[in-house]
Amino acid sequence: MREIVLGQIAGWHPLIRHIVGGWDTSTLYPITVRGSVPVSPWESSNVTLLGDAVHAMSPAAGAGANMALRDAAALSAALAKAAAGAPLIDVMNDYERDMIAEGFDAVKRSSANGVRILGEDPLPW
Ligand SMILES: Cc1cc2nc3c(=O)[nH]c(=O)nc-3n(C[C@H](O)[C@H](O)[C@H](O)COP(=O)(O)OP(=O)(O)OC[C@H]3O[C@@H](n4cnc5c(N)ncnc54)[C@H](O)[C@@H]3O)c2cc1C
Repeated sequence: MREIVLGQIAGWHPLIRHIVGGWDTSTLYPITVRGSVPVSPWESSNVTLLGDAVHAMSPAAGAGANMALRDAAALSAALAKAAAGAPLIDVMNDYERDMIAEGFDAVKRSSANGVRILGEDPLPW
């Protein structure tokens, strides 16, 4: 793996190549990167999803944790509406539709970055 990376950064600054050349290869390990495929909104209930549980994505956009936090904020706002008297199933349905749309937009962006900069296979959609 070190030799592959050194080959990929052959034209980079010597200090960067020195850092990679000094890697302790016993600390390297592979990570399998997978992306979710879009889901349609499901029948809402008092159980829902957020973050990687529904729209796991390549780290190539640095967006997965940000989207999980975004979902948490949106879900909190939805539950506050329900606590104020709005029908729970309606607010969950609104949350889920919005979360699915935004989450899978981020999946697409991450995948496109991954194809461009990490050599990932494109998603099949
Ligand atoms: C290499 C790499 C780099 C990344 N870089 C970035 C980045 O730069 N920026 C960014 O925004 N995102 C990044 N991400 C993505 C980010 O880490 C995830 O999107 C984020 O952690 C998802 O948060 P989550 O709360 O949805 O899920 P998780 O963080 O996976 O949290 C789920 C939790 O549930 C626990 N759990 C699972 N099953 C059970 C059970 N049965 N009972 C109780 N607990 C359970 C798990 O142990 C875990 O703690 C990166 C990911 C990787 C792999």
